[in-house]
Amino acid sequence: MARSYVHEARKRVGPKRARIREIIERLADAYPDATIALRSRSDLELLVAVMLSAQTTDVNVNRVTEKLFQKYRRPEDYLAVPPEELERDIFATGFFRQKAKSLRGTMRMLLEEFDGRVPRQLDELVKLPGVARKTANVVAAELGNPQGIVVDTHVRRLSQRLGLTRQEDPVKIERDLIKLVPREYWRIFPHLLIWHGRRVCDARTPRCEDCVLKDLCPSSRV
Ligand code: SF4
Repeated sequence: MARSYVHEARKRVGPKRARIREIIERLADAYPDATIALRSRSDLELLVAVMLSAQTTDVNVNRVTEKLFQKYRRPEDYLAVPPEELERDIFATGFFRQKAKSLRGTMRMLLEEFDGRVPRQLDELVKLPGVARKTANVVAAELGNPQGIVVDTHVRRLSQRLGLTRQEDPVKIERDLIKLVPREYWRIFPHLLIWHGRRVCDARTPRCEDCVLKDLCPSSRV
């Protein structure tokens, strides 16, 4: 019964390829300001902010980086202080020991292998200590060179609800989305889903009655 209901719902909204542009356009209309919530003024600040954002909120990271970025301006600055001092300065973002270690290792590699600059290629970014694929994807996209699609908890949930993927694993979800989403939207697409996920398509109680995608969504409850 449940299966046939899902089947019916998918049939009602049509294939994902026929819906994807409309989904993106409607979300872009609804959230013209959708962008990364982490504050940064340089490539280096962007990289640090994204690294610090693991397991905490963007608001929390912004609070910490406001002071941090006044004190640490170049990769050398992160290596010039004792590790405990850097740990104290990022303490409020959680997992501060591991994050401080990753930051120091990353700064060292930036200086030794990249002339102190943040690389733009995904395969180079993931070489930096503590920079996982998701972090690298976010940084590359924000530097204007998206080479994948960021899959966080909102992107995962909404992609599934919208019938854009049947996968559970973020890497496989990304693979599905890359085949589906036109390349020019790779940077903005995750932001649109994240904004919609926070405002309307909540994990526990999606507000389908207020959703601009309700006629395009096989999971709509209205
Ligand atoms: S219709 Fe409901 S489930 Fe589908 S995207 Fe909108 S809020 Fe989420």
